[in-house]
Amino acid sequence: MLRNNFIAGEWVRGDDGIENVNPSDTRDIIDLYAVAGAKQVKDAIDAAASALPAWSLCSPLKRFDVLDTIGTEIISRQKELGDCLAREEGKTLDEATAEAARAGHLFKFFATEAYRSNSEGYESIRQSVELSVRREPLGVVGVITPWNFPLAIPAWKIAPALAYGNTVVFKPAELVSGSAWLLAEIISRAGLPEGVFNLVMGRGSDVGQGIVSSSKVTGVTFTGSTPVGKSIGSTVFDRGGRVQLEMGGKNPLVICGDADIDVAVDCALKGSFFSTGQRCTASSRLIVEESIHEEFIDKLVDRMSSLRIGDARSPETDIGPVASEAQLEVDLKYLKIGDEEGAVRRFGGDLVQSDKPGYYLFPALFTETTNTMRINREEIFGPIAAVVRVSSFDEAIEVANDAEVGLSAGVVSTSPARIKEFVRRIEAGMAQVNLPTAGMDFHAPFTGRKSSSFGPPEKGSYCREFFTQAKVVHEAELPAINAV
Ligand code: NAP
Ligand code: MG
Repeated sequence: MLRNNFIAGEWVRGDDGIENVNPSDTRDIIDLYAVAGAKQVKDAIDAAASALPAWSLCSPLKRFDVLDTIGTEIISRQKELGDCLAREEGKTLDEATAEAARAGHLFKFFATEAYRSNSEGYESIRQSVELSVRREPLGVVGVITPWNFPLAIPAWKIAPALAYGNTVVFKPAELVSGSAWLLAEIISRAGLPEGVFNLVMGRGSDVGQGIVSSSKVTGVTFTGSTPVGKSIGSTVFDRGGRVQLEMGGKNPLVICGDADIDVAVDCALKGSFFSTGQRCTASSRLIVEESIHEEFIDKLVDRMSSLRIGDARSPETDIGPVASEAQLEVDLKYLKIGDEEGAVRRFGGDLVQSDKPGYYLFPALFTETTNTMRINREEIFGPIAAVVRVSSFDEAIEVANDAEVGLSAGVVSTSPARIKEFVRRIEAGMAQVNLPTAGMDFHAPFTGRKSSSFGPPEKGSYCREFFTQAKVVHEAELPAINAV
């Protein structure tokens, strides 16, 4: 069945269609998804622009109702949505169902934010002047999202965009059109006026570019790789738009000599390899103090050897397949680079034989690596981690901060003083203490430093800085004689 785009309140056929393939079993075609042509992208943007004036003025009660309705339906259908997500992206059913539930809760969180998007008053320094700051919607917002969190990331962009009175043109990653389409279908029935929310599916290079380069799109919120984010950022900046970019990571997990070894191994295993390592917050650099180095590696390898790699939807599976053939090629390329750079392939990295044709790769651990190696500098986005041995806590922080990106960073330690120092000195937007580098609460902000992020944080109330624009109003009191 062909799944269509949603434009101006109608389901519209695309110029073309793309098959969505299950990475756990490439014989399984999930559905055929419409690809929007240039005219459809323009129609979607025009519809969002036409719908803006009325939606931006509509009551917060209405915005609350719509978002809350969407959240309720997502939560009640979390199993079905999770199943589609696991089938098309390859994360396990548990992970995918939890992501679906999170998407629902994000809509519910931002439903309540609809009531909090209003003005602030200040005491003026001048007598008889009233001073206020109005929060007005940004306008038409382009939402461009990656394939690794096909429900949660769209939810944490679309929900606040709508809550703060904006209209939306949503372009999901083409690899995960199934989850995006289900989400759009739920949104389409929640009571939004036509044109407030639009879905255009297809490739970034054309559908995405059409959104990014349109002068009618006031702001673009993007999550994806650093190179694509930077190029989108400069296009939007050049035409005077606003941009919010969440990009790549190369996240360090520092394991101190005083760490609880089981906590350290658990954090590394889950942070590096779960979700097949395809998380911007995955720990790919394990920075381990000398005194605990051997014991840590032995225990991590022991845990890795019992991981079950298989069909994402099988209850036996700990780690599903790589999401696509293209990503598998990237992973294999970096395994080869690591071997050639002289890193020791201590465990894993082999293709897994299965009775189903899928992109199965056993998680890999490199040891004896240096932080200058490409495997420690470039984002791989697969189930591959590298251990860097350090001789002191100071050196660990230095190595952790020696990266062009700074998204999430973790420390495993039993020393309150070291933990405090780590949190203070680490150059990352998010610090995780005795926890994996991945896995954050949905109502707190999400942000990175250096080349990981640009613009105001996402999620939580902080994202209001992106989705609204301030208007500062100074108003003189009229002389009593003129006031009617
Ligand atoms: P990607 O290749 O950068 O693509 C992200 C989105 O941008 C997709 O929808 C893509 O479309 C679209 N796109 C590609 N080229 C474009 C262009 N020229 N103009 C407009 N849109 C364009 O990233 P990905 O491979 O989907 O996801 C993996 C990356 O996302 C990793 O680097 C990961 O670290 C990052 N990520 C970051 C965060 C965070 O919050 N910091 C969270 C999750 C993921 P198509 O793919 O459909 O062509
Ligand atoms: Mg990509």
